[in-house]
Amino acid sequence: MFCPIPDSSIGLKTSAVREGNVYILNGTKSSLVTNAGIADAYFIIARTDLDKPLHESLSIFYVEANTPGIKFGKKTQMIGWKASHHAEIVLDNVPVPVENLIGQEGEAAKLLMLLPEVAIGLAASYVGLARAAYEYALNYAKQRISWGRPIIEHQAVALKLAQMMIDTQAARLMVWDAALTSEISPQLAATVKAPAAKTFAVDVAIKNAQTAVEILGGYGVTKESLAGKFLADATIGYSCDFTREILRLGMVNFLS
Ligand SMILES: Cc1cc2nc3c(=O)[nH]c(=O)nc-3n(C[C@H](O)[C@H](O)[C@H](O)COP(=O)(O)OP(=O)(O)OC[C@H]3O[C@@H](n4cnc5c(N)ncnc54)[C@H](O)[C@@H]3O)c2cc1C
Repeated sequence: MFCPIPDSSIGLKTSAVREGNVYILNGTKSSLVTNAGIADAYFIIARTDLDKPLHESLSIFYVEANTPGIKFGKKTQMIGWKASHHAEIVLDNVPVPVENLIGQEGEAAKLLMLLPEVAIGLAASYVGLARAAYEYALNYAKQRISWGRPIIEHQAVALKLAQMMIDTQAARLMVWDAALTSEISPQLAATVKAPAAKTFAVDVAIKNAQTAVEILGGYGVTKESLAGKFLADATIGYSCDFTREILRLGMVNFLS
């Protein structure tokens, strides 16, 4: 999204055109906008100059939910995260006061490069999911008897559990490192450490959930067990916020 591609025709299309004391916003946002239709206000990213490249023309606006012209779609059904709410936002000539522009025109990319909190929060929640899948499988492996012994005593199962613990701890340390860095250098945290922690924690959560399904054997594929829910919830992390590929490609610009 923020890669410095010179072609102005590429990327986000939502526009904000200044008319006197207001910007007029037009466009459609993903059907996955978190809390769309529930929240009282939204931070909307729009382009204030469609002739400039994306990274130079993005601006952030604070938009109240009751502004005329803003419409919300129905709740999007997802494979997991059942307790959350996501929907589309349609902006049809939405007037936003000029004072609701955050920072200056074209500064969205610059501002977001100083805000690692979203990625760190997501990474932390995925460490929690990775831990839950690990503990669930560990507990099951201690109780389930096969060939006369708890399955944790079969090396094939024990090795999987050890790997789940190792990966979870590594993800946890990355989150702590990103959080600590955000206090010292928000830019380093936002551009490298937080996205690294988020993408790694999601991968660990997906892997642990998949391994939990395996360790639970047949029970793992029943709706009665929690393993399938862990896997569905973990998989959503792949595209939540930014995808694994986009996060990694974005980081490359800031590696030293
Ligand atoms: C739970 C959840 C909450 C969300 N909340 C919000 C929200 O609050 N607000 C909001 O605006 N959006 C939100 N989203 C949308 C989210 O930001 C997008 O789904 C995400 O950025 C991926 O974009 P896309 O779906 O258009 O995928 P696409 O861009 O179509 O990508 C499809 C595939 O192609 C790959 N790909 C695409 N472009 C490239 C490239 N240049 N190089 C390499 N690979 C590429 C991707 O990695 C992916 O694998 C949310 C999504 C989820 C799942």
